[in-house]
Amino acid sequence: MKRIYLDYAATTPVDKEVLREMLPYFSNKFGNAMSIHNFGKIAGEAVEKARRQTADFFGAGLEEIVFTSGATESNNLAIKGVVKAYYEKNKNNQTFDKPHIITTLFEHHCVLDASKSLEKEKLAEVTFIKPNQEGIIEAKTIKKAIKPNTILVSVMYVNNEIGTVQPIAEIGHMLEGYKNKSRKHKLIFHTDATQAVNYFDCDVNKLRVDMLSMSAHKIYGPKGIGALYVKQGTPIVPIQDGGGQEWKLRAGTHNVPGIVGLGSAVSMIKEQRTTNNKKIIGLRNYLIGRVLKEITESKLNGSKIKGSPNNANVSFARVEGESLLMMLDMEGIACSTGSACSSGALAPSHVLLSIGLRPEKAHGSLRITLGKYTTERDIDVAVNKLKKIIERLRKISGTVLADYYDQKTN
Ligand code: PMP
Repeated sequence: MKRIYLDYAATTPVDKEVLREMLPYFSNKFGNAMSIHNFGKIAGEAVEKARRQTADFFGAGLEEIVFTSGATESNNLAIKGVVKAYYEKNKNNQTFDKPHIITTLFEHHCVLDASKSLEKEKLAEVTFIKPNQEGIIEAKTIKKAIKPNTILVSVMYVNNEIGTVQPIAEIGHMLEGYKNKSRKHKLIFHTDATQAVNYFDCDVNKLRVDMLSMSAHKIYGPKGIGALYVKQGTPIVPIQDGGGQEWKLRAGTHNVPGIVGLGSAVSMIKEQRTTNNKKIIGLRNYLIGRVLKEITESKLNGSKIKGSPNNANVSFARVEGESLLMMLDMEGIACSTGSACSSGALAPSHVLLSIGLRPEKAHGSLRITLGKYTTERDIDVAVNKLKKIIERLRKISGTVLADYYDQKTN
């Protein structure tokens, strides 16, 4: 059976060209990028080349790129590093305000939980903004939440479950009004751009962000490597102790092959984005068109207009998402659900709940995400199998419900 991968938002395969560039740095050119001998210099030059490629991609300076182990670490560093810097700056001030953070209810868990842990440790007060029903955070909603002690706003660029695109440049522009000198605290704007890098302009000057997180494995690069853009002058300190790598902001020996892969992957996007986007948008529209037309009681979650080219998140009435996912997998189709399995209990997706879906609808959702290797045939095979599986599941759930009512009336 030929398996079809439709879960590109979870991870992407490493592009062959990216892999080719990485390979020498595992064995032949294995040096530690911080060593001063020749082995180290060769590795160090590779890291600096990748830093240049990454900085160019984001319109940043070399000293503004910090390599990390991925977006989870970048987001933790951004949020906790700014709060920690605030405490260090105010350590001799007896009357300083507890810092306030604004983020959203539908961020990735690494942003949500980093914020919640600061809240739990009583280090920060956090406001979680609810998106509108289309899955969009409006600049005016953020504006209303700003307080005198707000030091950080963190809003994701593209939502990983429903693919909705947030007006980051507009929010950045609005926040600039709060960056004047008369304000007691500096207001930092961070975006988690992990799901945006493939498809949207991520020039940090146009987005007007102070910090931006990304991860290589979502862009046909390797796993375990990412970056955080940190605008010069941003008050941030490291959250892990160790060597002085990455401008003393992220200690740890450089993952040289990973960094080379990240640099190669971002430069490839520049050459391929227009063609890939066009192809993927066409496939997505074809997929959504077929699903909504051919499967009754199906509904697209998120925004039809402000959506990422590769994402289709659909709810099917009277269908349980996990069963759907497993049956699709048995038929060779890899997708993901809108619900996450946490601590053994099936919990409906926090993202779908945040845009107002009822828990039973959130349970019957499927996230299909496309990529540059997806073909029209993949979509046809997947939709044909999906139709049959949904029919089968609905019959079962119909029987179960009938049995339930029978028992109740008997
Ligand atoms: N943020 C978003 C929006 C994501 O989609 C992901 C990956 N699912 C992450 C953060 C975490 O990235 P990583 O796997 O590189 O830690």
